[in-house]
Amino acid sequence: MITVQEHLSRIVESVQRLPPIGLDLLDAQGCVLAQDVTSEVSLPGFRNSAMDGYAVHAADLAAAGDAAPVVLPVAGDIAAGNTQTLSLAPGQSMRIMTGAPMPDGADAVVPVERTDGGLTRVVVSASVSVGQHVREAGEDVQAGDVVMSQGTRLGPRQIALLAAVGTGEVRVTPRPRVVVISTGDELIEPGTRPGFGQVVDSNGLMLTAAVRALGCIPFRVGCVRDDAQTFLSTIESQLRRADAVITTGGVSMGAYDTVKEVLSAVGTMRFDKVAMQPGMPQGFGVIGEGEIPVFTLPGNPVSALVSFEVFVAPALRLMAGRPQRETSMVSAVAAHDWAVPAGKVQYARVVLSHESSHEGLRHTAAIAGFQGSHALGSLAVANALAVIPAEVTSVRAGDQVSCHPLGPILEAS
Ligand code: AMP
Ligand code: MG
Repeated sequence: MITVQEHLSRIVESVQRLPPIGLDLLDAQGCVLAQDVTSEVSLPGFRNSAMDGYAVHAADLAAAGDAAPVVLPVAGDIAAGNTQTLSLAPGQSMRIMTGAPMPDGADAVVPVERTDGGLTRVVVSASVSVGQHVREAGEDVQAGDVVMSQGTRLGPRQIALLAAVGTGEVRVTPRPRVVVISTGDELIEPGTRPGFGQVVDSNGLMLTAAVRALGCIPFRVGCVRDDAQTFLSTIESQLRRADAVITTGGVSMGAYDTVKEVLSAVGTMRFDKVAMQPGMPQGFGVIGEGEIPVFTLPGNPVSALVSFEVFVAPALRLMAGRPQRETSMVSAVAAHDWAVPAGKVQYARVVLSHESSHEGLRHTAAIAGFQGSHALGSLAVANALAVIPAEVTSVRAGDQVSCHPLGPILEAS
């Protein structure tokens, strides 16, 4: 028996960040930059108006106020998108829209609300200070600035900045392509009602969805029978398009545990018992010329999901150039007693709820229901795994337990 940490360390040390590729900006959503991005342009690229109003010389309005309006001739009209260089003579104004280039000479904008909105002459009932409602060129980004560093993950806001400085393609660490293979003679395709002795391949869909939710690219291979030759040829053919492979089933002590039988002598594959519940039988190694990481997870659906969270997800994040962990554990109070196994880390399906008080947010963890490693009902209800260390022999109501969120949880402040 090895520890969870031993198995995870072996995995983490065997996987590598994928080599960078060039992608169109939108296709790079969720990827990590493999280069610094330097802007060739300034933002704003030109001096422009922050308001709909009138471009003026502030000095002309020094005396303006509600009781003493100033009248200026309107010498032009500047819309956003105007590409002409205009210039404003002293004593005059130009109507200007938000984002339109400021005419040379003008040093402020009077918002339209402080005027009568005139088209040939405008009555202004407020003074403005120099620079008011003007966006200066380069006040946001200066040409030559590094606007984004290698390692930044591209979400909507990062994509906006890169687009604004004129980026079309970026060099990023690609999303890992992950092949998901389910093994078992009892398995049938989702969408069919199982007959006696049959089980729907829920693992295949669950792990495909989990890979996608992590921001990687899944390829689901349907169910493969417990036949050494079929399994071997399937995995060989899938290796070509995979950065990683996940299999489920066939790794325990049964008579038809094909995955273990076929892969035990391949690459660096090793099959271990890991001191955890659920998820004890685990296999991992890198195989083929491409040294593709292969995770052979146990077949019980909860075991497979826990194994994905604990071993596969950290590895895929590293391959994608992301940190091994991206969410912090949530500390919660056990709502009641529950039984824990001796000498193994327990991953208990729990429902985390929170209440806020003047002391901040307090999380409570309650067992999600029946905890069998085949029980999908409680898995679907749970929003976290309470991780109970191997040396802990009991959980009592009121104990602090550390929880691994299975999705967005309001962080304790
Ligand atoms: P195994 O690890 O192959 O011994 O399978 C352990 C248990 O998980 C058995 O009850 C299987 O029927 C079940 N199981 C295996 N693969 C899947 C799958 N892809 N989807 C749902 N259940 C599965
Ligand atoms: Mg099986």
